[in-house]
Amino acid sequence: MKRRNIRELETSEVWDRLFDCLINTFYYQLRQQLGYPFGTFTPEPVIRFGGFDLQEPWLDKNKKTNIRCGWHRREPFCRIGELVIYNRYIYLNKLFLYQQLGFQLYYLNPKEFTKLFNLDNLMKVMAHELAHALLTDLNPQSQEVNQGHGKKHDEYTQKFLDLIIKSSEYQQLKKYWK
Ligand SMILES: [Zn+2]
Repeated sequence: MKRRNIRELETSEVWDRLFDCLINTFYYQLRQQLGYPFGTFTPEPVIRFGGFDLQEPWLDKNKKTNIRCGWHRREPFCRIGELVIYNRYIYLNKLFLYQQLGFQLYYLNPKEFTKLFNLDNLMKVMAHELAHALLTDLNPQSQEVNQGHGKKHDEYTQKFLDLIIKSSEYQQLKKYWK
């Protein structure tokens, strides 16, 4: 295999596979734990990792720096023949990967950059987006107001985070993530 191809794999496909796996693992582990195993929803949604995408920070009206660390997209409806498919996509900012690879972008202060894009925050962002994905089917009303944020969302984000922190996958990640 050519060297360039190896580098492309290192920066993209491998990470996509890993996060596809983590997102699905945590999503179904929590559903199982709460008594909503696969088959509870008809049809079952498809939970997908949309990928790492580079997002730039911006200044809000109070001159405070904001950045999208993670986000989600829901396809309300998709039909192929008689099959109805509900896709739930979770995306992550590529700056998480850059931090891991030692590449600092946009942020001058290394401490600020690391604080935003370290492993702890990556897990918090994943928990936050997973809570949106699960509540979309479990408690759709909660996702229709205040961009899906509020008590229910806080509660499920915490449930996901507790599960993630205790998981063997997270313990593995901690060994090689900066
Ligand atoms: Zn949110």
